[in-house]
Amino acid sequence: MNLAVVGGGYAGMAAAVTLASHGIRVTVLESAKQLGGRARGVLHNGVQLDNGQHILLGCYHHTLKLIAQVGGNIEQDFLRLPLQLTLHNRFELQAPRLPAPLHLLLGLLGAKGLTFAACLRAARFMLAMRWKKFRLAQDISAYELLQAHGQDEELIRLLWEPICISALNTPIHQASAQVLLNVLRDSLNGSRADSDMLLPRKDFTALFPDRAAQYLARHGGEVLTSCGVEAIVQKDDGVELLSAQGSMRFSHVICAASPAVSARLFRTVPALVGIADQIEAIAYQPIYTVYLQFPPHVTLPHPMLGLDRCYTQWLFDKGRIAAQHGLIAAVISAEGRHQELAHELLAQKVVQELREHLGVNAPPLWHKVIAEKRATFACAVDLHRPAHATPLPTVLLAGDFTDNDYPATLEGAVISGIQCATQLLTQGA
Ligand SMILES: Cc1cc2nc3c(=O)[nH]c(=O)nc-3n(C[C@H](O)[C@H](O)[C@H](O)COP(=O)(O)OP(=O)(O)OC[C@H]3O[C@@H](n4cnc5c(N)ncnc54)[C@H](O)[C@@H]3O)c2cc1C
Repeated sequence: MNLAVVGGGYAGMAAAVTLASHGIRVTVLESAKQLGGRARGVLHNGVQLDNGQHILLGCYHHTLKLIAQVGGNIEQDFLRLPLQLTLHNRFELQAPRLPAPLHLLLGLLGAKGLTFAACLRAARFMLAMRWKKFRLAQDISAYELLQAHGQDEELIRLLWEPICISALNTPIHQASAQVLLNVLRDSLNGSRADSDMLLPRKDFTALFPDRAAQYLARHGGEVLTSCGVEAIVQKDDGVELLSAQGSMRFSHVICAASPAVSARLFRTVPALVGIADQIEAIAYQPIYTVYLQFPPHVTLPHPMLGLDRCYTQWLFDKGRIAAQHGLIAAVISAEGRHQELAHELLAQKVVQELREHLGVNAPPLWHKVIAEKRATFACAVDLHRPAHATPLPTVLLAGDFTDNDYPATLEGAVISGIQCATQLLTQGA
């Protein structure tokens, strides 16, 4: 096998590392100057940022294992926080250090900011879902599921909606209840460590894709950056990839570009037009990250903190997380009124919320708003996601949007890459 991976995001690099670890020669072709795709480092004013603040969960076993496989050290690369959800001065859930799922149930029962009756309803909901093995006979919206199980409006707003929006990046009335249950099953119903939150201390290009590129180099593979693939051409004995640098021949290709690019590349291959149609039917949701650099003494009470009824959904104190003192990242997931504001005005709103709710009176030294308009696919009810296999045995499709249990996440992307690689290894065997 002489294999190409198109796209050096988390899915593409996961596929490449898996193949290389089995002795297969892999070439990764990446259109950008750097690796990482939608999870990449961004340098601004000499400060290392990401294109958006990301978090991992303890249940992201495939991602964490791969990071370690290419030389990462999980305990050094991340700040690991036990399950804790805090909406400043409004709601707090802290899981006690007990075995799962007791830690969650007692955490829910002891949550501050809700009546005991509401806490009990939340715990009952988790038990009911556990009883159903987190499977629904028919997908409905997350909101409908929660309402059907007696979760009142306040309980939804303070507990379930923040979880749904940050996990699925989709408004709760549109979001797939089944995918939300998949996330709850793996994060809250597994071991206690599965519900940990891991906040990165390195940027997302350095964390995995750059290390993966070095791993490939040590295993006979190569990574070509600034090498965008412009067309896939089906040949009798494999696949030809056309780029500005010329044409290259491979026995097999894993297409791990963003969904829009994968659709464009597949559109010109007759056997793949049906998949291009399927991908083009996918809708997207944005994620905005507002970085604010304050003087170094500015800190927040927690490394990660939510705000209720504000533009800001989650705040991250990069000083506490990664020794980037005074740097705060404010995250706003999914569509909403914030999209109507100019970036300058949105940054001012976040500064105002920090002043009003957390007493941060110092003005920021600078701000940077990064709006990823197509951050993730909209994880809607009954979404029909494309499979990895295509009608051509020589072409496979990877990416967070392909068919798997997860919403658009690093873990979903990594699993898709590993599955494509495994399929090719089985095919070649
Ligand atoms: C702001 C933001 C915040 C997020 N937060 C989280 C989070 O907290 N936790 C979480 O788990 N997930 C989060 N996600 C989602 C996560 O980043 C994605 O699910 C994941 O990065 C997708 O990886 P991928 O490899 O499938 O796709 P991509 O990252 O899109 O990778 C595709 C790659 O293909 C390259 N490419 C495109 N066209 C071509 C071409 N013609 N030729 C060659 N290469 C090409 C691109 O440059 C890119 O590198 C977030 C996403 C964003 C945008």
